[in-house]
Amino acid sequence: DDEDCNASVSCQGSGLGLWSNKKWGDTGSYAAMKKNQSWFQSSDGDWELARVLNSSGTESLISYSEGKVLKVSSASLLPANPEILDGVDDLMQLSYLNEPSVLYNLQYRYDRDMIYSKAGPVLVAINPFKKIPLYGNDYIDAYESKSKDSPHVYAIADTAIREMMRDEVNQSIVISGESGAGKTETAKIAMQYLAALGGGSGIEYEILKTNPILEAFGNAKTSRNNNSSRFGKLIEIHFSETGKISGAQIQTFLLEKSRVVQCSEGERSYHSFYQLCAGAPPSLREKLNLKGVHEYKYLQQSTCHSINGVNDAEQFHIVVEALDAVHVSKENQENAFAMLAAVLWLGNVTFSVIDNENHVEPVIDEALLNVSKLIGCEAHALKLALSTRKMKAGNDNIVQKLTLAQAIDTRDALAKSIYSCLFDWLVEQINKSLSVGKHQTGRSISILDIYGFESFDVNSFEQFCINYANERLQQHFNRHLFKLEQEEYIQDGIDWAKVEFDDNEDCLNLFEKKPLGLLTLLDEESTFPNGTDLTFAEKLKQHITSNSSFKGERGKAFTVHHYAGEVTYDTSGFLEKNRDLLHLDSIKLLSSCTCELPQAFASNMLSLSEKPVHGPLHKSGGPDSQKLSVVTKFKGQLFQLMQRLESTTPHFIRCIKPNNSQSPGIYHQGLVLQQLKCCGVLEVVRISRSGFPTRMSHQKFARRYGFLLLKHAALQDPLSVSVAILHQCDILPEMYQIGYTKLFFRTGQIGKLEDTRKRT
Ligand code: ATP
Ligand code: MG
Repeated sequence: DDEDCNASVSCQGSGLGLWSNKKWGDTGSYAAMKKNQSWFQSSDGDWELARVLNSSGTESLISYSEGKVLKVSSASLLPANPEILDGVDDLMQLSYLNEPSVLYNLQYRYDRDMIYSKAGPVLVAINPFKKIPLYGNDYIDAYESKSKDSPHVYAIADTAIREMMRDEVNQSIVISGESGAGKTETAKIAMQYLAALGGGSGIEYEILKTNPILEAFGNAKTSRNNNSSRFGKLIEIHFSETGKISGAQIQTFLLEKSRVVQCSEGERSYHSFYQLCAGAPPSLREKLNLKGVHEYKYLQQSTCHSINGVNDAEQFHIVVEALDAVHVSKENQENAFAMLAAVLWLGNVTFSVIDNENHVEPVIDEALLNVSKLIGCEAHALKLALSTRKMKAGNDNIVQKLTLAQAIDTRDALAKSIYSCLFDWLVEQINKSLSVGKHQTGRSISILDIYGFESFDVNSFEQFCINYANERLQQHFNRHLFKLEQEEYIQDGIDWAKVEFDDNEDCLNLFEKKPLGLLTLLDEESTFPNGTDLTFAEKLKQHITSNSSFKGERGKAFTVHHYAGEVTYDTSGFLEKNRDLLHLDSIKLLSSCTCELPQAFASNMLSLSEKPVHGPLHKSGGPDSQKLSVVTKFKGQLFQLMQRLESTTPHFIRCIKPNNSQSPGIYHQGLVLQQLKCCGVLEVVRISRSGFPTRMSHQKFARRYGFLLLKHAALQDPLSVSVAILHQCDILPEMYQIGYTKLFFRTGQIGKLEDTRKRT
């Protein structure tokens, strides 16, 4: 009967034990501290527990942390929850849902390795940055048999399976959070549970093996996470009528291509490069002319080549095993590794000036020869593709020579394209292997592991796309939660007084409106030969005049008011990244290669063309516009994703990073608070707070507070007892509603009752 005890009395460790963190006061037993407690915000912005010594109207005298005494304005104090609510499973059980109470409750649990909590329907997962003993077969069995019901990813996965089977409705598990918060690990934990319950055919093993492959090719060490996913991922796991896994399909979003050719200090390029260099067996090394990572310029841009505790050579073998498991043939594996080597060698191609107009040609050296050998083309053809561009002027075909900067751009664009095509190709191979074919039953659970809202000192095109996606996901989240709240009220026969909630419609409009939204204007400017990042920024200022989520800034910047806060975008590089051009000469080079993969890449690129190939081929001058812009493609993918998600029953997991140093045991209130805001957890809390968030069954309520009644002998049924208690304790009628099975309270009411209970 766990869902009826919202103002739970079964909370763990109430008031026992010492605080492990100074901020919450380390003066001994918490129980002793907590009488008459309030929260006050100290000068460093953190909340501390304080005891109110006396209060005279607008000012209060408080004592906190080892007997310090301070006079503060009474209005700045927030009430703390009664101690029976310490460490409750679900934040909604808190009588006071203010920020410090939420933060404190999560930390209380985190300090005890209870990293999972609920915020109503949402699972909050705080990254422990250490191994905690909550996983494995025993735990899986316990959640399956319901002998455990504390919040857990397993519990979410279990609900998803059950609801899929019971309601015959597809399910989704939407995981979000910022970089390093634990999304990818959480997704794997969910997959583990699904594989354990739905396993049997062996395909679950293949599905789990897709993780090391995608992580090798799509993850990299960044300053925020040693294993950061540089792409978004949706994996749809299909089930048979009997609940067994029958296959899966993966869709990826927006791989960060720029990392292939440039990388900041302290970070790495994709793991796959280092794994290949460290782990390839001698025969493969020879075939690919492989050198150590120190020989490759693309990898030399950062001095960081290894990751603490990670053995790249070992990882290489794990990836090969995984490729075997998903039936990528040895020949294809070798083809794929040849593409990695080709990218690395491309980075080593250098140019020399050939005339006094600064035109260049590639130097014919080991690097150039290796690239041509690895992709299967003549060295001469490669040389031309990297140093000239064919154009049409009037009726004449002309050949334009490239300057050094243009040639380097062309080379890097080719490297980025080969890598991202390789990534897509691998996903395609995996999908072929895991495909369900005609035996689709239509039952599935999708897991979405996608980058959360990002706001840095400097925000670029990538943040622009990511935050746009998050606006859409947030809308989905809000609508769903709102609906759930409403359903619960209606089910229990409660008046559904409309609860206000912030819609982010305005911000979505800013992005999507035609013809004067951010996306359309960006695309428009991207197709103008003379468009620049500056003209784009100016166009925004000129045309977007009536959207309150938009603010033009000086120069090349603009600011968007997102649901999670304001972000200022620097438009530098926007147009180029949005065009993401690979010149037709390069595509033609790839299609003329004798090797299988470059050919496949080229035909893929050409088939993605919006317009027939002969169009741009014969167009004069300007960049080739043979493909969709990046934002247009991304928007299309996003719409498809939302459509898919909307046909499922969603389950939300919000991952939280408790510190920026990837260390266990450190909980930064400010950092956690900001993430709770960004991922909508505080919004859930807010929505609930504006309604009747605290719920308790009539039975529980009567049992806990019945003894307060002066004459309760005559009353028998829990409902009558409950009503009598409410009257006697002067709980105002607008502070509660009586449902068929439960009592619904506004925040703070259970706190009052607890006080009465203690005094009695
Ligand atoms: P990004 O957006 O950069 O991909 P992410 O949210 O996917 O980040 P993860 O890669 O899942 O983050 O997690 C980062 C690291 O945190 C992991 O490599 C692991 O060390 C640790 N971690 C995350 N979740 C757990 C967990 N449940 N138990 C132990 N360690 C964890
Ligand atoms: Mg990740």
